Amino acid sequence: MDEARSQTDLNALLARRLPSVALATGGVFTILTSAHLLLNPGKIIPLLAAASALTALCTAGSYFYFTRRAVQPDKAHPIAALIAGLVLLNFLLQLYLTGSPAQSGNLLLLMVALGFILLSTNWLILFLILIPLGWSLVVRTLPPGPDWTTYSLGMAIAAALSLAIHLAYMKVSRQLVRLRREEARNKAELETVLKTTETAQRSLAATMAVGQRITSILDLDDLLNQVVELIRVRFGYSAVGIYLLDEDQQNILLQAVSDKSGRADAHLGLTHKINGPGLPAWVAAHARPARVEDISLDPRCQEVAYLPNTHSELAIPLEMGRELLGVLDLRSDRLAAFREDDVALIQTLADQVAIAIRNAQLYDQVRRFNLDLEELVSRRTEELQSAYDKLHKLDRAKSDFIDIASHELRTPLTVIQGYCQMLSEEPPILSNEQYMRLTDGILSGTRRLNEIIESMLDVAKIDNRVLDLYPTPVPIASLVHFVIESLRPALKERQINLTIDLQALPPIEADVDALRKVFYHLIVNAIKFTPDGGSIQVNGRVLHPREYNLPGNYIEVEVSDTGIGIDPNIQELIFTKFYQTGQVAVHSSGKTKFKGGGPGLGLAIARGIIELHGGRIWVVSEGYDETTCPGSHFHVVLPIKQN
Ligand code: ADP
Repeated sequence: MDEARSQTDLNALLARRLPSVALATGGVFTILTSAHLLLNPGKIIPLLAAASALTALCTAGSYFYFTRRAVQPDKAHPIAALIAGLVLLNFLLQLYLTGSPAQSGNLLLLMVALGFILLSTNWLILFLILIPLGWSLVVRTLPPGPDWTTYSLGMAIAAALSLAIHLAYMKVSRQLVRLRREEARNKAELETVLKTTETAQRSLAATMAVGQRITSILDLDDLLNQVVELIRVRFGYSAVGIYLLDEDQQNILLQAVSDKSGRADAHLGLTHKINGPGLPAWVAAHARPARVEDISLDPRCQEVAYLPNTHSELAIPLEMGRELLGVLDLRSDRLAAFREDDVALIQTLADQVAIAIRNAQLYDQVRRFNLDLEELVSRRTEELQSAYDKLHKLDRAKSDFIDIASHELRTPLTVIQGYCQMLSEEPPILSNEQYMRLTDGILSGTRRLNEIIESMLDVAKIDNRVLDLYPTPVPIASLVHFVIESLRPALKERQINLTIDLQALPPIEADVDALRKVFYHLIVNAIKFTPDGGSIQVNGRVLHPREYNLPGNYIEVEVSDTGIGIDPNIQELIFTKFYQTGQVAVHSSGKTKFKGGGPGLGLAIARGIIELHGGRIWVVSEGYDETTCPGSHFHVVLPIKQN
């Protein structure tokens, strides 16, 4: 196989050399023609000169022919043999006509020259046989002489020399053609590689440029428009379109298009049924790329009026994982404009486009969700605001009601109290024990009612910010003792032990009446929520500077009991007005009875007064438990001086 190819190459080499061989032969025979005319004896001149001239004409003529029409490699050796045969016949004729043994020298030269010229050993051997054969046939017709023997020896040597030259030259020529072949192959390969690299580089640069641009665009319409425009301009296609799948996944919609004329824009929104006519619909149905070299020959393609010059088309699915988002459709006005390599490259680009589309879709969803959320939040805020306004109005109305009710109740109550007092001093009542008990009952009820109305008035004043304070130096210990004095009977009745340790406290600047109410409510509560036989402690201390993060000088009074305690969940709520735990209906009556009922105002008043003084009040309790009685600790912090 290799041998045959190498011989073909050698034939081709000879074919390329043949014009020079023909020209050289033509030249030699032109000179020979002139030499015959000048040098040879008269009677043989016309024949020899005619033969030489004919050979010169033929070979020179063939030179001109060969320069115009290349010699086919397989014809090179037969043509070379023809020329060699012509030359041989000329030399034999010359030998025959002159009869000079010296003319044999031409044949020797021909043999050696053929060793150089012929690149086929078979053809050479043919001539190495033909030449001596022709020579010996001619010599036979000539008178014998010693020179013939010398030339026959010369003939053998020339044949051997020709063969040796031929073989060596063949070797070199073979190497030469092999090198040339390799060079040609390398060149071709290099050219292909260069071309491919160049195309790939250009396409890659375009892909990267498109990829870089599109990843930063988050608006879907903007993204799609930029993608089609960039791809069309960068890759030089005549039209680029993007179809997206609709919500039912039944159709694809032309979402963006770019063409040279700009006429396609009017067809945005065009719908194709999946698997319906058109290459994009086919690609959407089969989820694989389709490359068509001539759209007029492919039944899947559909000619569209707004893109009249389309000749080839490439459609690539836009997919995220296995989910189809749409189709990228590329059209060219050239036949077979899309190569096999383009499919892979555009697929890479399509993958990036798909990611960018998904990002933009997600961004759009988040944006829309945000807008909905914002709307919802503002609607809820409005609702909350209006609920708050309503509550505020209700609270105001409640405060107004308390204010009005307490004022309006006070006058008739004072009248009742006054008349009852007078009644209890009348002799018929004083003399009747039953009547006495009744009037005492009415009097104690009105006193309790009076207290409640007082509390309601205090709360109303705090709410309306009209509770005026008149601070004077107040010794807390005396104030607490004063409060306790009025509660002695209750403590005795309930067998509750009360201890006070307030000696360390300095007098503080405060409204004495207001502060008395605070400790009254705290101690009454402690009595109310401590079972019989329990104990109450009232302790006081001066706070260290910056204790509880408070600026200036403060004192703290702690009212602790061994009562039922307070659930941590409601420890803040109990300071709001009218807040009560448990069912009001099951409260026992009496303000110092165990779990006795109350209007739920005591702690609200206490906090209002303490805060007006620039102090704080809070409660610490492990929890509510009527069996284990974990107790409660009410902390009251007050500034020593008022600002
Ligand atoms: P009330 O008039 O009901 O006593 P307060 O405002 O004084 O109203 O108290 C509110 C609620 O706080 C009470 O109903 C009670 O549940 C709880 N409370 C107050 N002081 C104590 C305490 N020392 N021990 C347990 N619970 C208490």
